[in-house]
Amino acid sequence: MTRHALYGWGRTTPSFATVLNPASEEDVVAALTQNREVIARGLGRSYGDPAQVSGGVVLSNRALGGVGEISSDGVVTLGAGVSIDELLAVSIPAGWFVPVTPGTRQVTLAGAVAADVHGKNHHLDGSFGVHVRQLRLVTPTGTFDVSPERDPELFWATVGGMGLTGVITSVTLQMIRIETDQVLVDTERFSNLESVMGAMLDKDHEYRYSVAWVDCMTKGAHMGRAILTRGRHALASDLDAVTLAAPRSPKLFVPIDAPSGLLNAASVRIFNEVWFRSAPKHQENEPQSLSTFFHPLDGVRDWNRLYGRRGFVQYQFCVDDAHANTVVEAITRLSSSGVPSFLAVLKRFGAANPGPLSFPVPGWTLALDLPVGPRALPRVLDDLDEMVLEAGGRIYFAKDARLGPDKVRAMYPRLDEFLAVKHRVDPEDRLTSDLARRLDLVGS
Ligand SMILES: Cc1cc2nc3c(=O)[nH]c(=O)nc-3n(C[C@H](O)[C@H](O)[C@H](O)COP(=O)(O)OP(=O)(O)OC[C@H]3O[C@@H](n4cnc5c(N)ncnc54)[C@H](O)[C@@H]3O)c2cc1C
Repeated sequence: MTRHALYGWGRTTPSFATVLNPASEEDVVAALTQNREVIARGLGRSYGDPAQVSGGVVLSNRALGGVGEISSDGVVTLGAGVSIDELLAVSIPAGWFVPVTPGTRQVTLAGAVAADVHGKNHHLDGSFGVHVRQLRLVTPTGTFDVSPERDPELFWATVGGMGLTGVITSVTLQMIRIETDQVLVDTERFSNLESVMGAMLDKDHEYRYSVAWVDCMTKGAHMGRAILTRGRHALASDLDAVTLAAPRSPKLFVPIDAPSGLLNAASVRIFNEVWFRSAPKHQENEPQSLSTFFHPLDGVRDWNRLYGRRGFVQYQFCVDDAHANTVVEAITRLSSSGVPSFLAVLKRFGAANPGPLSFPVPGWTLALDLPVGPRALPRVLDDLDEMVLEAGGRIYFAKDARLGPDKVRAMYPRLDEFLAVKHRVDPEDRLTSDLARRLDLVGS
């Protein structure tokens, strides 16, 4: 097991965590026995502080590797630290794809379970946890194989539990069959938010994958104009030539941090305009590679440097269908605030799963990328929190770095259920993180 340091922020001052790289279950058990404040970490693609613990011990899961054989019905057991990228490198050539993928394949399997990630197919296929058959979990009180049948409370508390119930060492996953490495994509442009939301409500159920990119910088009749892309896996019979190629490594990269202030209302407005105009008004059945369709950002390494040293805030909420108007209000608030926002991502969510901290609830979800800098930003975010709270909605832990405990209790009404399970397997709260400290996610 190797050791190095991770720089993070404590409550008021910056501080370090010790980083360990356990390579076996025994190493994980030893780390949990010998240390008091511990959290697991994958590829660090969460936007906030769930995978760091200032002054404590971070267990990188990357040495917990190994891709098992994919069975004839698509079940595979993987080391917790295997990334979706690494899995796809072997599974696509064999005709299998992950059942759910976030917008980047640079996440580990355990990270995907712990955040219960969702993709463009949540409206039909649910989130990642629904497709997990079994987890191997090391907790301070023992090591368990858990599944929806075997200790369902611990299984579902771990799905979406942000690493606070234990360290996952392996994941058994149900994959989906694909015949080609292409997706057939329909693209449509909409001149305002109402029309794109109407189209999603009408027809999303006919597509396996659907996402809308919404312009939050336009006002008036064009407020929330959007590009809607929807697709399905191409069958061999859809294409002249059939390929099943592993995703390629990115050729492009951003070598330096962009100057702070480069992304301001004017430049973001121009970017959004170009993006909107470059999309076809209406196009059907365009073949796109799996990487282009699912992971466009993975094509540019270190894309986050474009935001400069100040960086950006991700903000993602969901609300049920009865509160669809919250999406409209949020975009109205943003477009009138002068706070620049890149194209926002709007998706439909389908049925929730039994996880008490799983984020998705049926209805709408909106994800925003907001460059840090404008003085109005904190106020706008507070206003969005209030709107989401009023609508009975919630914010995604994997993208949060600023909520407080009161709001979280209101957003996640089953929090005590989660904490009771955590207390059962971790009575001394050895598993903690900066997120858990900030939101008071402790079981005892
Ligand atoms: C460009 C981009 C696009 C994204 N798009 C989406 C999207 O479409 N949908 C979506 O849902 N999310 C999305 N995300 C968020 C991302 O999918 C999640 O934050 C995911 O959890 C990151 O996985 P990771 O391996 O990097 O984990 P980390 O960020 O390192 O950790 C995330 C959580 O997993 C826990 N964890 C890690 N390893 C273990 C382990 N072995 N045992 C127990 N807990 C563990 C950590 O403690 C932490 O709480 C996106 C992120 C980026 C950067």
